[in-house]
Amino acid sequence: MSLPKVILQKGKAKPFFSRHPWVFAGAVDRIEGDAKPGDEVELLSTVGNFVARGFLNPNSKIRVRLYSWNENQLLDESFFRNRLEKAIQLRETLGLMDPEGGCRLIFSEGDGLSGLSVDRYGDYLVMQVSALGIFQRREMIAGILQNRLKPKGIFFRTDKTMAKLEGFEALDEWIFGDGPSGNICIQEYGLQFQIQLASGQKTGYYLDQRDNRVQVAKLARGKRLLDVFCYAGGFSLHAMNHGALATVGIDQSQQALELAASNACLNHFSNCQWIQGEAFDEMDKLVESGEKFGVVVLDPPRFARNRNDVKDALRGYRRLHMQGLKLVEDGGYLVSCCCSGAINMDMMEELLAQVATDQKRDIQVIEKRGPSGDHPVSVSCLESHYLKCLITRVL
Ligand code: SAH
Repeated sequence: MSLPKVILQKGKAKPFFSRHPWVFAGAVDRIEGDAKPGDEVELLSTVGNFVARGFLNPNSKIRVRLYSWNENQLLDESFFRNRLEKAIQLRETLGLMDPEGGCRLIFSEGDGLSGLSVDRYGDYLVMQVSALGIFQRREMIAGILQNRLKPKGIFFRTDKTMAKLEGFEALDEWIFGDGPSGNICIQEYGLQFQIQLASGQKTGYYLDQRDNRVQVAKLARGKRLLDVFCYAGGFSLHAMNHGALATVGIDQSQQALELAASNACLNHFSNCQWIQGEAFDEMDKLVESGEKFGVVVLDPPRFARNRNDVKDALRGYRRLHMQGLKLVEDGGYLVSCCCSGAINMDMMEELLAQVATDQKRDIQVIEKRGPSGDHPVSVSCLESHYLKCLITRVL
């Protein structure tokens, strides 16, 4: 049976021969054959050479998502079983399959599975989908994971924005098994964190910052740490565990702060303060009252969704860093995190240079970090290198 074919415009094939998985509408010349949204298609160059296989979505800006560059490899159940297995093996090798812990099991483009993220929290999996082709195959994918890992349940969560962009139904439901009666708990480097599988942010927790939280905590011994955009209190609690004197966390979400406070309690830390409010406003107040901290962590949500947003996003980051820097004591540390794929480490360093000039301070880069190893970066799709964590000292 011959598959429908998507033919590229002249001169547009190079990124896809180079294994980039997103074929935007502007690169497509025409579609040959009867293809419905979500169907498997072959991508061909203008002169008819095979490029790759993917799933079509005529309603998305990403017209085709590519998964295989092998002409003979159909995107069937055995293809998915193989890809999922490769991803699981990496986490096993990295020692991240401890039944009490959590890890990102599948990381979309980073694992060659554009549009599929799966997080493991102890005995439960949370699956999040951002591509129509994957949405349509969710039961099959969940079945493979269920068979391989025997979780107690798999929760399917939808990012409403992605569902709208890709044109699928925003489902939030247990696709396999049942949920726990309350929150579940995972271990992260000796601390316990509660996870709200069905109602927390993202898939319930930010696993990508796992190693950064501990690395930053080591700098906080004997100091006060300010945790801006603290969510469940990860940076704060690890700092306390490494001998910080006290922590202040800021977040606008009341639900997040309740979780953070209860996590502090669970781990028997009492010197943690949580402030509910808009980060910029709350930082302004701290600056006005002359507060200084030994470590300031800035871990904002994504400011830039794509390249068009970069200019505005950098303006936001600049304002954030201007305030953050004012709150760092002499010889203290400023930790800048950025989860916008469109902003790279060079741009962040340049921004810090501007802020340093403006405030007449010296900033030394101590370490440039990325996400933990369960968020691999595909060299063919550097957008998958979304999380940057720049640790600097301020004099
Ligand atoms: N540092 C956290 C993850 C932060 S995610 C960790 O290690 O787990 C970003 C957080 O920013 C979310 O909790 C979100 O509620 C919060 N947030 C988003 N916009 C905000 C704003 N304008 N002011 C304060 N908090 C905000």
